[in-house]
Amino acid sequence: MRKKKSKKRRRIIRVMRSIVYLSIIITVGLLIAYKNMPKDVPKIEKVQVGSKVKMDNINSKKQLSDDSNKNTSNEINKVESSNKINIGNDGFDAGKVQDLLVKNTKIQDGKKIAFLTFDDGPSTTVTPKILKILKDNNVKATFFIVGKQLEESSKAKNILLDTYNQGHAIANHTYSHNYSKLYPHGTADITTYMEEVEKTNNLLKSVIGENFSTRVIRFPGGHASWKGTEGLDKILEEKSYKFIDWNALIGDAEGGNKTKEQLLARYHQTFTVQDKVVLLMHDTYGKESTADALQDIITDLKNKGYEFKTLK
Ligand SMILES: [Zn+2]
Repeated sequence: MRKKKSKKRRRIIRVMRSIVYLSIIITVGLLIAYKNMPKDVPKIEKVQVGSKVKMDNINSKKQLSDDSNKNTSNEINKVESSNKINIGNDGFDAGKVQDLLVKNTKIQDGKKIAFLTFDDGPSTTVTPKILKILKDNNVKATFFIVGKQLEESSKAKNILLDTYNQGHAIANHTYSHNYSKLYPHGTADITTYMEEVEKTNNLLKSVIGENFSTRVIRFPGGHASWKGTEGLDKILEEKSYKFIDWNALIGDAEGGNKTKEQLLARYHQTFTVQDKVVLLMHDTYGKESTADALQDIITDLKNKGYEFKTLK
């Protein structure tokens, strides 16, 4: 009788033990399944919504494929956090700004926006000074890079990387910046022009990362200055490039060296009522006074209620 009872008890204990083991296995299984399931989906979406260009740079060595879903969540986390540093809400549609400058199309968002633009860099002398002032003011700008200038030294390339990593927009200002090559007799040479744009694009990729691209370009001397751009405009449009001139300047490329005071006077002369101001400046060699004037310009724009955006 007693034997029978203890046998029964042993069987019950065995069954209960099995139930406990089973439920542990099921719980662990469910936990693993839950962890692997849908959690990463919104993260991926967030990454895709942001600018791909920037996130590609961070992984330039690892090369993100077009399909972000293929990345491990570790990579995605890395991308996501770097995204926040690099992009923020600083980018503005360059297409709208091109239309504003070319067709005088109004941007009716009721906002005062300043686009600080720096051409002809990078230089190892002036660009770092400009970057320091922008950083101190937490202001982002757009840099129109001349390929030849970038190619000059590894220091120049490092400065471009700094510029990019600090969240500024990088745009294309052709390779040679040579008027007689790009616009012989004042007329745009389409083949040469496009070759130079592509050459500079490739150089930018070689420094920033293979997946870097920009659709923003600026004509050396300004689009409005040259004849025969109709054919070129068509090609640029087909290739989704946006060209950006300016509607205010500080005169740092007009004639010889200018003092800070002269630059500020020219700034106040050309910047009057624009609610979207595209300000032309230069960060190339010899433009130290541009760096000297920049703080006053930023302060003036801030006092007038402008926010700062980059051209994307
Ligand atoms: Zn230029």
